[in-house]
Amino acid sequence: MMRLPKFDYRTPQTIAEAVKIIADAGPEGQFVAGGTDLYPNMKRRQQMPKTVISVMRLGELNQITGDGSRGLRIGTSVTLTEVCDDPIINRDYPVVARAARTISTPILRNMGTIGGNLLLDTRCNYYDQNYEWRKGINFCLKKDGDVCWVAPGSSKCWAVQSSDLVPVMVAIGAKLRFASTLGERVVDAAGLYNDDGIEYLRKRPDELLVSIDLPPTNGWRASYQKLRRRGSFDFPVLGVAAYIKLEGGVVIDAKVVLGGIAPSPVDIKEAASVLIGKSFNSDQIQAAAEAAYIKARPLDNTDFVYQWRKQMARQYTLRALKELAIEA
Ligand SMILES: Cc1cc2nc3c(=O)[nH]c(=O)nc-3n(C[C@H](O)[C@H](O)[C@H](O)COP(=O)(O)OP(=O)(O)OC[C@H]3O[C@@H](n4cnc5c(N)ncnc54)[C@H](O)[C@@H]3O)c2cc1C
Ligand code: SF4
Repeated sequence: MMRLPKFDYRTPQTIAEAVKIIADAGPEGQFVAGGTDLYPNMKRRQQMPKTVISVMRLGELNQITGDGSRGLRIGTSVTLTEVCDDPIINRDYPVVARAARTISTPILRNMGTIGGNLLLDTRCNYYDQNYEWRKGINFCLKKDGDVCWVAPGSSKCWAVQSSDLVPVMVAIGAKLRFASTLGERVVDAAGLYNDDGIEYLRKRPDELLVSIDLPPTNGWRASYQKLRRRGSFDFPVLGVAAYIKLEGGVVIDAKVVLGGIAPSPVDIKEAASVLIGKSFNSDQIQAAAEAAYIKARPLDNTDFVYQWRKQMARQYTLRALKELAIEA
């Protein structure tokens, strides 16, 4: 049985208290929400904070406010089950509820939060193993070792961004609000993710993710398609989020974002270029899917053969865009 290492557990009641505790704890401190990612990582000795600070009692982080006409603010401690069931999210942002419904299992969604999902650790077959297994291969670059077993000549870690909601948030242009003892800052979701499996977030460890702001739904639509082995429960090994805004049958804005194939979400700008300014028809959809296929370069470090996952980037982009075309 894998046991948690020893740590101090803190339960602040206000944001000011939470950011003060983590500032005082320094590099030994880490926030926890539902713990469905952090605690398994601690059991595998991949992350070893000495002070663990719960964000579940911070009132503001548990609220959902607004709607599609004004924009919606979701506190980061809102659980995935609450996201799946919320009537406003289902009415105005169905893509968010739908992507959340594909995450892990009902029990884990009761514990796991939307904030924890956006800050999920990157994943790799050589890393998501217990301590003894990793010791058996002399560890790897991401933790305790000095070689990447996926690309042995590489000085970079290629562990994969594996959250279902990240590509969706990037595609729809969500904004993320952080707090620390130095004040607040707001970043575009796209700006948070770094293409490096070790330094995968452009954020300081002492920054608390407070809320996610979804833009008003002024005519855009979005969809999400997920590839995984078991339909009932598995991380994505490819996720495609497609976003489209039409005016008089012409595409005036578009985004296709792939998750599950690289250390950060991959924005297929070439797909947007072939769609924007043209009518939303099957030729344009096919060309956008081809652009996703060309740009997708999955590596051999998750489930399924990577060449097949690359082929699926085309198929799943087609599915996502066709779904939007049918709605339109
Ligand atoms: C069996 C299994 C299957 C899973 N399947 C999927 C899947 O299909 N898709 C998927 O996307 N995920 C999956 N997950 C991962 C995980 O359950 C979810 O991503 C969940 O949303 C994580 O949320 P959490 O609140 O539990 O995060 P936690 O474990 O509490 O935290 C995750 C990270 O975020 C940080 N953090 C949390 N909240 C804050 C905050 N407010 N401010 C700053 N830092 C914060 C923590 O320090 C930690 O680094 C799975 C997990 C398991 C165990
Ligand atoms: S990609 Fe390489 S360095 Fe990163 S976790 Fe996998 S084996 Fe380790």
